[in-house]
Amino acid sequence: MRKKKPSYVRRLLGSLSPSEQIEKIVEQGMCIGCGACQSIAGSEYIEMQLVNGSDLVAVPKKELSSSTVDQILSVCPGTKVEGLPEPLVEKDSTYDEVWGIWRQMTMAHAQDESTRHRGSTGGLLTALALFLLEAKSVNFILHARASSTHPAFGEATISRTSDEVKLAAGSRYGPTPTLIDIVHILEQCERTKETFALIGTPCDITTMRNLAQIDSRVDRFCRYQLTMVCGGFMDTAGLRNVLDQKGVDIDKIHKMRYRGFGCPGPARIEMEDGIVHEIDYLDFWGEDDSAWNLPHRCKICPDGIGDSADIAAADSWDGGAPSRLSLSDDPGSNSTIIRTLKGEELFKAAVKAGYICQEGSLIPRDMDRFQPHQVRKKGAVWARFVGMRSANSVVPDVRGLRLKPLARRNPIKLNLQEARGAKKRVKEKGCK
Ligand SMILES: Cc1cc2nc3c(=O)[nH]c(=O)nc-3n(C[C@H](O)[C@H](O)[C@H](O)COP(=O)(O)OP(=O)(O)OC[C@H]3O[C@@H](n4cnc5c(N)ncnc54)[C@H](O)[C@@H]3O)c2cc1C
Repeated sequence: MRKKKPSYVRRLLGSLSPSEQIEKIVEQGMCIGCGACQSIAGSEYIEMQLVNGSDLVAVPKKELSSSTVDQILSVCPGTKVEGLPEPLVEKDSTYDEVWGIWRQMTMAHAQDESTRHRGSTGGLLTALALFLLEAKSVNFILHARASSTHPAFGEATISRTSDEVKLAAGSRYGPTPTLIDIVHILEQCERTKETFALIGTPCDITTMRNLAQIDSRVDRFCRYQLTMVCGGFMDTAGLRNVLDQKGVDIDKIHKMRYRGFGCPGPARIEMEDGIVHEIDYLDFWGEDDSAWNLPHRCKICPDGIGDSADIAAADSWDGGAPSRLSLSDDPGSNSTIIRTLKGEELFKAAVKAGYICQEGSLIPRDMDRFQPHQVRKKGAVWARFVGMRSANSVVPDVRGLRLKPLARRNPIKLNLQEARGAKKRVKEKGCK
């Protein structure tokens, strides 16, 4: 049999020692901080650490073995991103070049008003988690809540009760290592035969789908993989900048909620001295999202739309942002992409059981209206990767994400601009 040619990333990293390979992924801005590599290698070998007081990234502590790094490269969303696994694509599923494989697109929200209010958008993900637990379809939910040590971050949490699920509602727009304990969780499931659902960012789902290819426990014990459409999080330098301008000292924050309690709800920042700041969404992120300071990996993300999740939940503002008028009275509804049969069955059962209220159905072009930034990014990433490769930068191996056909829709001039821009950024700014 002919030997398979190593992928671009493998060739690029191949001459480095195992630990240097991890360092290179981080140095080149491809570590999103999901924590899976710490879980695979063990915290004595790799630890998620705050670097420059800002990014939460993987730091090798001892020389790693090549077999460990080989596993990490097969799993890391900075080195490998794929679309929905083939066995999950049904014959009667629909395909859209931008939005991928889908079975249903619909508007929906949590039926329970307090869940809807508490959730980031319409509380859909929280309602699904509540249904899964209360119907005893899974034993626990692995997701993220506000960090107990870094108020602006998220931290992985396991919810076994409805109260715990509700407490974790709301989007965490800071670094969030949801998978920092994933191997340990799978080991425990193997012993106890417990099952769970994962709610995480598209990068978390990518990591889990990648892990499933080398660890059969993922598919045995993780019954559902639910995500949010994700434009990226705010790095700490960016958040410091935004808060400085509002006169809020990031180092004196006691508790922070980015959104929720209304759609989108104000960012609520409780200070150590008890003072509370509330900043509405548009003031926080800027009318045109100009305050977002994305990590490099988010700027070149090939999958912000949860291509490989069972269900992806999103906002539903025309044009991609709320209007000032809607800020105070939007009860919140999720645009929802249901991609798998399992996701469809879960959604239907949750509607039937009264956890979710389904509204009108959507088509991909509605999603384009709600998510113009996702459409732009998905169309730009192929050219950005070309530029990055020409600068010898780490670029994830991608499959099943339609990047090339989407780039072909662009005028050549735009692709050239994207490629040159990405190359220049990588060379001049070192992936910042
Ligand atoms: C970083 C980020 C970027 C986003 N960008 C977009 C975008 O570009 N377009 C768009 O339409 N929507 C975006 N969203 C999604 C949006 O904010 C809502 O999360 C989504 O609509 C689901 O709303 P919900 O009311 O159903 O969620 P909720 O009912 O509030 O449930 C949210 C669930 O997600 C989990 N969670 C929250 N934050 C994280 C995190 N960082 N990592 C892992 N799990 C987490 C929580 O534990 C909870 O279970 C983003 C969310 C995040 C976290």
